[in-house]
Amino acid sequence: MTRDELLKTYPDIFVINHPFVKHKLTSLRDKNTNTREFRMLVEELGTLIGYEATRDLETVDTEVETPLETTLSPMLKGKKLCIVTIMRAGNGLAEGVLKLSPSARVGHVGMYRDPETKQPVEYYLKMPHSVDERTIIVVDPMLATGNSAIAAIDKMKEMGAKDIRFICLFAAPEGIEAFKKAHSDVPMYIGAIDRELDEHAYIRPGVGDAGDRIYGTR
Ligand code: URA
Repeated sequence: MTRDELLKTYPDIFVINHPFVKHKLTSLRDKNTNTREFRMLVEELGTLIGYEATRDLETVDTEVETPLETTLSPMLKGKKLCIVTIMRAGNGLAEGVLKLSPSARVGHVGMYRDPETKQPVEYYLKMPHSVDERTIIVVDPMLATGNSAIAAIDKMKEMGAKDIRFICLFAAPEGIEAFKKAHSDVPMYIGAIDRELDEHAYIRPGVGDAGDRIYGTR
C-alpha cells in the first residue's frame, strides 16, 4: 500500500504534523549531525511524539487544597504508564517519553534478527507487573520491516496487555502495512513515513542505523 492508502485505510495512524517535529526529523537525517546532537534530538522527539500519543489518557477529578480553598481538579487515572523500549535504539526514545511521566515504569525487550530465518528472536524481556492494567507505549525509532515491533507487541498481548500504543520516528510503508496486518488495534504515532525499504532493510531516505547514530558505534 502507498502512504496515502495506509492513512485512508487506518484512521489510527497518526503522522505528527508539527513544525518542531519536522525540523528535528530533518536534523536527524543530516549525516553531519553528530552523536551528541542525534541523541538529544531523539530524546526531544520522544517527548513531542509521546505528548500526542498520550492525549487521550483518562483523568479523574481529585480533591486538592490550594492555599485558598479546596477544589476538584483532574489527575491521571489508573496505574502508572509503562514505556516499553525495543533495544537498543528504543532506549533513546524512551528517555524522551519518560520526561512526560518520570514515574512511568519501563519495560525492555531485546530482539535480534536470525540471519537464516530473518525473523526476530527475543533475547531479553523484563516488564513491570500488572501489564494488563497499564497503558503500554512501545517505542522504536525505526519501523523498517516491522518484524521486531510486531513480535514485541505479540509478547505484550501474551502477557495480557490491552491498551497498547506504538511510537516511532521513521516508518517504511512496508513496515506499517505488516504492523497493521498483525495489530490492527494498536494506534501508531509516527514522525515521518519515508519512501521505501532498501534491499538491506534500511529505510530510505531515513537516517541510516539509528542505534549506531545514537550511541556512536560503527
Ligand atoms: N533500523 C535502523 O536503524 N535504520 C533503518 O533504516 C532500518 C532499521
